[in-house]
Amino acid sequence: MKIGIIGTGYVGLTTALTFAKLGFKVYGNDKDKEKIEKLKNGICPIYEPGLDELLKEMLETNQIEFLEDIVQTIKLSDVIFICVGTPTNPDGSPDLSQVEEVSRIIAENLNGYKLIVEKSTVPVQTAQWIKRTIKLYSHRDIEFDVASNPEFLREGSALKDAFNPDRIVIGVESERAKEILLKLYEKINAPKIIVDINTAEIIKHASNAFLAMKISFINMVADLCEKTGADIKKVAEGMGYDKRIGREFLNAGIGYGGSCFPKDVRAFYYIGSSYGLDFSLLLAVENINNSRIDRIIEKLKKALWNLNNKKIAIWGLSFKPNTDDIREAPSIKVVNRLLKENATISAYDPKAMNNFKKLFPNIMYGNDKYEVLKNANALLILTEWDEFKNVDFGKMRELMRTPIIVDGRNIFECEEVRKYNFEYYPMGRSCIV
Ligand code: NAD
Repeated sequence: MKIGIIGTGYVGLTTALTFAKLGFKVYGNDKDKEKIEKLKNGICPIYEPGLDELLKEMLETNQIEFLEDIVQTIKLSDVIFICVGTPTNPDGSPDLSQVEEVSRIIAENLNGYKLIVEKSTVPVQTAQWIKRTIKLYSHRDIEFDVASNPEFLREGSALKDAFNPDRIVIGVESERAKEILLKLYEKINAPKIIVDINTAEIIKHASNAFLAMKISFINMVADLCEKTGADIKKVAEGMGYDKRIGREFLNAGIGYGGSCFPKDVRAFYYIGSSYGLDFSLLLAVENINNSRIDRIIEKLKKALWNLNNKKIAIWGLSFKPNTDDIREAPSIKVVNRLLKENATISAYDPKAMNNFKKLFPNIMYGNDKYEVLKNANALLILTEWDEFKNVDFGKMRELMRTPIIVDGRNIFECEEVRKYNFEYYPMGRSCIV
């Protein structure tokens, strides 16, 4: 079975390399020619642990080929995964133009039975639209199936997740499509949930909206903890032991970001509302998340009186650790707010600085986490990279002008920071005595 992957971004490239490693012949296509050129030459366009090595291995063994031509990709493939972007329109609705465009091109180039699989995150009933589009544009009576196989990988551990998923959701409406997808995932040991296509599409949006809700919930409680002298870390621990709740995604901080949660919460709200349903719970989730930026700026101001001409060192720009992705990262909003307040910024991130420089070419960037601390009035921690967790507080104290840490990710313990006479402002707990 030959597999075509349309869109070789975070999801498409990971999916392509996973299937290649599982022994299938894979063709990867992207409309971004520069990306394809890099991939052909074994250069991974994104940072994701293990991806670079696997790319080189699969190119060497010829398990994967990258093609500029989408038509060739379609014609060579038996199964086509649509992995293009599904961003948000200004009104909050999902922009499905990339999915529609690819569906049309597939329709016009059908040269035999194909299984067309939507992997991109799409609203319920999108597969019906893909089917209709293919029928409308194909002009021929060629058999095809459409299926939904949503992706649940997490950036930062994408490959690990692809080979060890919690579950594989397969939304199908024919036995043939079901058998093909089961064959593709035969070697992956995970529960396989076989459902109708609408159900599969909803599983994805509901999962992401639920996870975002968990984050906003704990952030809401974190604010109460701060007002009352309670400790959100302990609250989360106490809640998390309850198996019905679970400890994961109960980390208070500066909220969720990235290319999925913000857009998927908005899209799910839009989808529910478009059916006349009350999905306002998700508006609250979004509002709480947006307010996290105000919280962290308030903390900085509380510590520094005002931000005018203050040097703020930032640790962490990516929306989460182990990725270079800054799409909808809280750091973008924070930096914009700091610049408005006339603060000076020096930032460091292990992998995301090149992407951040494209948005903010004029702030200072450091070569390491200590360099940015020189003469800083405060350190602001925005991403919980491991390298920020083990630090030399003595060295930090010497480098900084004033010993203030505002920690948007709660990575330190009060006692250890206090030993070095830092003023420490975490989220949802108080460390000032
Ligand atoms: P991405 O922006 O990294 O990749 C999308 C790719 O599609 C881009 O390289 C783009 O050039 C390409 N593309 C767009 N139109 C094309 C066309 N007509 N022909 C060929 N290529 C085309 O996006 P991503 O993060 O990989 O996400 C893709 C989808 O997967 C989205 O729907 C997203 O919601 C979903 N998803 C993402 C993640 C994640 O962690 N990033 C996880 C699960 C699901």
